[in-house]
Amino acid sequence: MIVLKASFKTTLEGKTVTVPKVEMERCDQCNESFLTPAGSRQVDAWLDEQSETITTEELQQFLDQYQLTQKQAAEILRIGEKNFSRWLNGRQRVSASMSNYIRTLIAVPQAFEILRNKPWKTTASA
Ligand SMILES: [Zn+2]
Repeated sequence: MIVLKASFKTTLEGKTVTVPKVEMERCDQCNESFLTPAGSRQVDAWLDEQSETITTEELQQFLDQYQLTQKQAAEILRIGEKNFSRWLNGRQRVSASMSNYIRTLIAVPQAFEILRNKPWKTTASA
């Protein structure tokens, strides 16, 4: 095995993207290249950056700032109950649109209060 750095092709939100200078191992018998564990982490970090995925720190900040349990956060965001914990422990990627949505709620407490109280619901049923 030869360790080298080369560009690595993968997909991001349905598009083919090329991650630069990724650490890989090349088999000197069949000439095939494989990501090393470090290379794999590099690809993940690059994809996170590219897709503007919200970080686990930001998700935790969202919970802390509004004193929410993961269950409450899931209810307010209208997502599955287990989704939030999958996001928090990094097992599931948060979409770019959901990331920007949560970031907006972190930045604008008034927007969060409106979402939590859903005044349009009262208006609709009145
Ligand atoms: Zn081989």
